[in-house]
Amino acid sequence: RPRVLSGAQPTADSYHLGNYFGAFKQWVALQDDFEAFYFIPDLHAITVEYEPALLRERTYVAAAQLLAAGVDPARSALFVQSHVPEHAQLAWVLSGITGFGEAGRMTQFKDKSAKGGSDAASVGLFTYPILMAADILVYQADRVPVGEDQRQHVELTRNLAQRFNHRFGDTFTVPEAHIVKATAKIYDLQVPTAKMSGSNASHAGVVDLTDTAQQAAKKIRSAVTDSGSEIVFDPAAKPGVSNLLSIFAALTDRPVDEIVAEFEGRQYGHLKVALADLVGDFVQRFGDRTRELLDDRAEIDRVLAAGAERAREVAAATLEQVYDRSGFVRPS
Ligand code: ATP
Ligand code: MG
Repeated sequence: RPRVLSGAQPTADSYHLGNYFGAFKQWVALQDDFEAFYFIPDLHAITVEYEPALLRERTYVAAAQLLAAGVDPARSALFVQSHVPEHAQLAWVLSGITGFGEAGRMTQFKDKSAKGGSDAASVGLFTYPILMAADILVYQADRVPVGEDQRQHVELTRNLAQRFNHRFGDTFTVPEAHIVKATAKIYDLQVPTAKMSGSNASHAGVVDLTDTAQQAAKKIRSAVTDSGSEIVFDPAAKPGVSNLLSIFAALTDRPVDEIVAEFEGRQYGHLKVALADLVGDFVQRFGDRTRELLDDRAEIDRVLAAGAERAREVAAATLEQVYDRSGFVRPS
C-alpha cells in the first residue's frame, strides 16, 4: 500500500479547528487506502520558546486529540517524533544538500521570525523545513496531507529527495502534498485574512478543540464579518463570511453552495447563530472524548510505544541506506 505521513505540532494547549479541518479529517480518511504514519513533532516544537513541563502535557493532549479525531492505532502508526531518532539523523544528512538561500526563501520562517523579532528566531526555526523533509522522506511517504501553509515545505522536500536521488542514487520516494482545497486554510475569526493558528497570541479568533461549547459558540458569534449584509461565498470581498461558510460546510460535509442557498435573504447574524450551535456541539463531543482518553495515560503510552516501534522499522531501513549511499563506513 502507498504510504501517507503527517504531523501537527504540540505548541499550544490544544489543537484548533483549522488543524482539524485542514489536516486531521484528511488523516482519518486516508487511513483506509494508505499505510499511515502520524506523529507529534516534539522536535519541531522546541524551535520556539517553550516550557518543558508544558510540552510534556501538550504531547499527551495532542495524542488524545488525534485519537479522538479518529486516528486508528490498529491501522496507523501514531507516535512521538523524538521516539524515532532517525528523523533527526536524516535531517542532518539533508542539511548538507540544502542551500542556505534555498532555506532562506521559506515563508513560514520569515512570518514566524518577524512575529518575535530577529533575535527571538532560533537556528532550529530556520532549519525546521529540513527536519520536516526528513520526517517525510524517512518513511518513503507518497502523500503528505497538509494545509496550504505547508505547501512550500513539501515542495522543498520534493527538491531535496530528487537532489539526493540524483547525486547518490535512487533512494527516496518523491512525495506529493495532499491539500483539500475547501479546507486548506481556515482563517482566524477575528482577523479573517490571517490563518487560524495555535501560536496566535490571542485565541479570541481561534476555536480550540478543548473549548467548552459556550466558549466556542461565543467565538463564532463574535466573529468579525464584512461590510454589506448578503451571505455570499467570496473570499476576496467577504473573507469573514466566507470563512464561516467554509467552516459550516466542513462541519456538515455539505457543499458551500448549498449552505449559501439555505441562508439566502437572511442576515449574517442568522448564519453565526446556526454555526455557533454546530461548532459548540462539535467541540463538546470532541472534548468529552479527549478527556476520556486522557484519563488513561498508560494506554496512551502503549499506543505511542507501538507506533514508534512500527515507525522505527521503516525509518531505520531508510537511514541505513542513506548512510551507505552517503559513503559512511558502516559499523561491522
Ligand atoms: P503554528 O501557527 O504555530 O504553525 P499551526 O496551528 O499552523 O501552528 P501546525 O502544527 O503548524 O499548526 O500545523 C498542523 C497541521 O494543520 C498542518 O498540516 C497545517 O497545514 C494544518 N493547519 C494549521 N492551521 C491551519 C488552518 N488555519 N487551516 C487549515 N489547516 C491548517
Ligand atoms: Mg503551522
